[in-house]
Amino acid sequence: MSVNQNDKNSSRERTDRVRRLKKLILILAAVIIVIPIILCVILFCKFQSLEDQIHQLQESKVVKEEQERKESAKVTSQPSLSSNLLQVHGDGSETERQDYEKDTRRKVYLTFDDGPSANTAEILDILKEYHVKATFFVVGKTDQASIDNYRRIVKEGHTLGMHSYSHKYNEIYASKQAYIDDLTKLKDYLYEVTGVTPRYVRFPGGSSNQVSNVDMRELIDYLDENDIIYFDWNISSGDTDASKVGVNRIVNNCMKKLEDFSDEAMILLHDANDKGTTVEALPIMIEQIQDMDDTVLLPISEDTIPIRHVRK
Ligand SMILES: [Zn+2]
Repeated sequence: MSVNQNDKNSSRERTDRVRRLKKLILILAAVIIVIPIILCVILFCKFQSLEDQIHQLQESKVVKEEQERKESAKVTSQPSLSSNLLQVHGDGSETERQDYEKDTRRKVYLTFDDGPSANTAEILDILKEYHVKATFFVVGKTDQASIDNYRRIVKEGHTLGMHSYSHKYNEIYASKQAYIDDLTKLKDYLYEVTGVTPRYVRFPGGSSNQVSNVDMRELIDYLDENDIIYFDWNISSGDTDASKVGVNRIVNNCMKKLEDFSDEAMILLHDANDKGTTVEALPIMIEQIQDMDDTVLLPISEDTIPIRHVRK
């Protein structure tokens, strides 16, 4: 073999080695970059789901506490018709008030907290199928699907109520100003996307929640001063009692308690990604309610007498 040939061979081997080395460096770089990204995504998803679970646990805790409180006190959260009509509906006409008062049918309000979610469209489809109008106390979400859902809620004649923009208890209940800032952000945002300024509110955890650092009466004063009406509930579906509550349990929770309220029943349900059984329970409940005598399903309106846990 000539010297020239040997040089060529060794130069080819060098080139091959360099190429292999380059490939190795590229693979290493890819591994070093991709693995942390995948880990970050996994951690982020876990964080989100943990945060959701914390919110749900907080809500179910306050709902349970409220029920225990009511059961032990054996009192109803239903205020008297006449006093509340005068208190809350100062701007409604006298005739309308009398009409509402004369209407002796049981008025049932289906209220959904925490949406929009991946289930909102299906909930709206079911409501449409049964010709039922409901109330949605929503949170702030900026993705297109959520924007479409806010708009659909309004367009299809349901009541768009406010829950909280961030729905983070530790933030919104840190101070009166923090609550006002959060609510104002949600109100402005909903106006921006739907053209409607919501007037109704449900406090996260209800007005009787035990997590607020602020005296709830201070927040209620703020709402009163700004002509915003808050609503709690007198029937809890219990759909946040566990991560997955059975369909029958949700239906039974609601239907059993419905008998206790002959004038107004406000049912607390949740519109959240993991609340599939609430969606499944919905048509069953609607059919049973529609079969009840002298009972009507309504969205919250100016005429609705607020069901309240904390009253001034
Ligand atoms: Zn909530």
